[in-house]
Amino acid sequence: MRQSQLFTKTRKEAPGDEVAKNAQLLIRAGYIFKNMAGAYTFLPLGLRVMENINRIIREEMNAIGGQEVHMPSLQDASLWEKTGRWDDATVDVWFKTELATGGETGLAWTHEEVVTDLMRQYVASYKDLPKAVYQIQTKFRNEKRAKSGIMRTREFFMKDLYSFAATEEQHSALYEACAEAYMRIFDRVGIGHKTYKTFASGGAFSKFSHEFQTLAEAGEDVVYVNEEKGIAVNEEVMQEVDLTELGAAPNTFEKRKSIEVGNIFSLGTRFSEALGLTFKDEAGTERPVIMGCYGIGPARTMGTIVDLLADEKGIIWPESIAPFAVHLIALNTDDAEVRDWADGLYTSLKAAGVEVLYDDRDARPGEKFADSDLIGIPYRVVVSRKTKEEGKFELVVRQTGEVRYLAEAELFDDFTKAS
Ligand code: ATP
Ligand code: MG
Repeated sequence: MRQSQLFTKTRKEAPGDEVAKNAQLLIRAGYIFKNMAGAYTFLPLGLRVMENINRIIREEMNAIGGQEVHMPSLQDASLWEKTGRWDDATVDVWFKTELATGGETGLAWTHEEVVTDLMRQYVASYKDLPKAVYQIQTKFRNEKRAKSGIMRTREFFMKDLYSFAATEEQHSALYEACAEAYMRIFDRVGIGHKTYKTFASGGAFSKFSHEFQTLAEAGEDVVYVNEEKGIAVNEEVMQEVDLTELGAAPNTFEKRKSIEVGNIFSLGTRFSEALGLTFKDEAGTERPVIMGCYGIGPARTMGTIVDLLADEKGIIWPESIAPFAVHLIALNTDDAEVRDWADGLYTSLKAAGVEVLYDDRDARPGEKFADSDLIGIPYRVVVSRKTKEEGKFELVVRQTGEVRYLAEAELFDDFTKAS
């Protein structure tokens, strides 16, 4: 894409009320726009990153047998009354509104009720199980404090998967498969080295649930971590976990701030019993389905990546989710020969399937480089009168600052190998 055509622009300063580093950088670089507290627009660059994250999530969810659906945000109150979760005294994050035909509706803050109700239509026998259903969809939560930029908003994307099993063994297998898929997702988006599967409070059907907590100073949560053994425990349940059983002495755990990027939970038969999702087992006995729920916040994950990997100059995207693979920067564009050379490279890189943001703007070199550092595309290729005379392109790696001079063939080799 030609940067001169991009309707967004970078800005020197973030809005004064935006204190979170992820939002400051994402707003300045033109990835997001703040509409109001807790509600952001994903701009063209931001949407590309979000879709790359979602693509990785989809691949991993499909790989464990997840089947994608899209459920509505508008909710039928009577369904939630059956599980006792319609009342504002029980659930304090509902956004509710009146229907024109009378009665109330609410905007979904999660989807256990909806998915359980819909599965009643399709599950009858043990032969229909196990199954896993997921979506990447918008959730609404009337959070008391919208803060931390895109990490805690009132309207946000969630990937939520729900599992349906006939037996505890089936359920455990799905639960473990999902936990492993989550680690692969966080590895692939570049925060695996800081992310821990963490013991968290369970509920009626299992002693513990698991959160995926990424260690970061900007985090709202507190966990105790043994980095060497790879064990983490949410502060809320520290008293309840038998650390010695995990093979680690209590004094080997360090207190750290962290961001909850994901959460997996055994639901037992809480929802299936309340809503009548049952199946006939092999003996013909009617039993409630055993369920689990598994969430990831793609936007919170994106904010975490920015927070963790950025440097003083701006964002640094991992290649796996970057909006573009290459930031092509043309200098001396008033020189027709240089411009043609840059245009030619842009065209041929695109034709080779390389995603390129082409800074063809009429702007000073200093401004182009500063913007490029801020935007954080992994590789920068500079074309100028000087590089043209030398017949070589300057290739700069955003993360390390490493500079190489490559002939066109070598450059192509590099990128077509990578992509
Ligand atoms: P938290 O404890 O941070 O409020 P939660 O435990 O209520 O989150 P879940 O209901 O388990 O969150 O949601 C699954 C995932 O959705 C979370 O792990 C997080 O990544 C993301 N998420 C939750 N709330 C928000 C929000 N307000 N804004 C953005 N992402 C969110
Ligand atoms: Mg939580």
